[in-house]
Amino acid sequence: MQRADSDAVTDAASAAAPGVEGTAAARVNLLGLPRAELEALCVSLGSRPFRGRQLMGWLYKRGCDRFEEMTDLAREFRAALAEGAEVRLPSILTVQHASDGTTKWLLAAGDSQAFEMVYIPEVDRGTLCISSQVGCALDCAFCSTAQQGFNRNLSTAEMVGQVWLANRELGFKAGGERIITNVVLMGMGEPLANFRNVVAALQILLDDLAFDLSRRRVTLSTSGLVPQIYRLARYSNVALAVSLHAPDDALRSQLVPINRVHPIAELLEACWHYIDERNGRSVTFEYVMLEGVNDAPEQARAVARLLRGHPAKVNLIPFNPFPGSHFRRSSDEVIVRFRDELNDGGIIATIRRPRGLDIDAACGQLVGRVHDRTIVRLGRKMAAAHAGSRGVQTTI
Ligand code: SAH
Repeated sequence: MQRADSDAVTDAASAAAPGVEGTAAARVNLLGLPRAELEALCVSLGSRPFRGRQLMGWLYKRGCDRFEEMTDLAREFRAALAEGAEVRLPSILTVQHASDGTTKWLLAAGDSQAFEMVYIPEVDRGTLCISSQVGCALDCAFCSTAQQGFNRNLSTAEMVGQVWLANRELGFKAGGERIITNVVLMGMGEPLANFRNVVAALQILLDDLAFDLSRRRVTLSTSGLVPQIYRLARYSNVALAVSLHAPDDALRSQLVPINRVHPIAELLEACWHYIDERNGRSVTFEYVMLEGVNDAPEQARAVARLLRGHPAKVNLIPFNPFPGSHFRRSSDEVIVRFRDELNDGGIIATIRRPRGLDIDAACGQLVGRVHDRTIVRLGRKMAAAHAGSRGVQTTI
């Protein structure tokens, strides 16, 4: 099991996160509590720590969200739980099924905000793609979520709740075969900009008393928040994916504005540190294929030069269009040529097959419902603050 350092990631905030249904705000949402905090809660309710572990079994192994069904817990303890705690799940607003078997759910975040999660079945695995924020402030030029702006972080309970809910929706039965074998934090939002809640959610995904996923089957994707990658190395060891998308700073700064604060060389240093410290495998660099922008063979060779000799793989993502986007997807031939150039350059590269396109569920197409955008989008903010200046402060 992955344990965080003791000062790490209490999630009291997630239980009372703003915008989470207000009716029972005084009750603690058990889905937001990693093991140690669940044990502490049990003690605070007059019981013993091991009750916390028992509760985890009910919540995650058996998918039970009703205290009255937890029959091996003493009646008085169940009453205390009902008084002070609850299992509060995001509610489902809509469900869409794509022709390729992909399913997308729109989930309520209170205040008429909403976020999305996507289940992608494959022959040998079932991947759930979860969101970490309502909207996103990072403002990547080719991403539909970025167009929505940012409203708020999701709580730990809302992230864990996505996996819990998807299991129930997909018909998971206690003791039965896993339906969700992999979880990727690649939905709406920048996970490392919601650090504390995300790390607590990762703990619960990996805990053998909870979802018990291997760290190799949980992937966090980041646009490149360098300080938070170093911090992540202190608290987690899940697989890391990084949105590279360009071989040089000039182009990457246009496509991924955070590059103006943390350029490629710094980003790569942070990635190698993460692998050395915690993960031991390799970083997957995501690279969206944009016609005529970043897809030339010379650019592939430049990417290979950046990554050669390091623990790195490249995943090429054909651009998924959305209304108002001015980019075009590279042709299949160009994508295959790009991959071959990388392979010839000594870098393992794969092409991600778009899934759920007919329901706008593919990478970069998740929009949810984002109102009251409280933070100015990063690209615009930095343009206003003289783009390119290294001294720019972000709110992230
Ligand atoms: N905020 C995280 C997770 C984003 S979604 C991050 O930036 O990594 C996962 C991947 O999809 C990222 O690499 C992202 O850059 C990519 N992506 C975003 N919009 C896309 C689009 N329209 N088409 C294809 N991939 C896209």
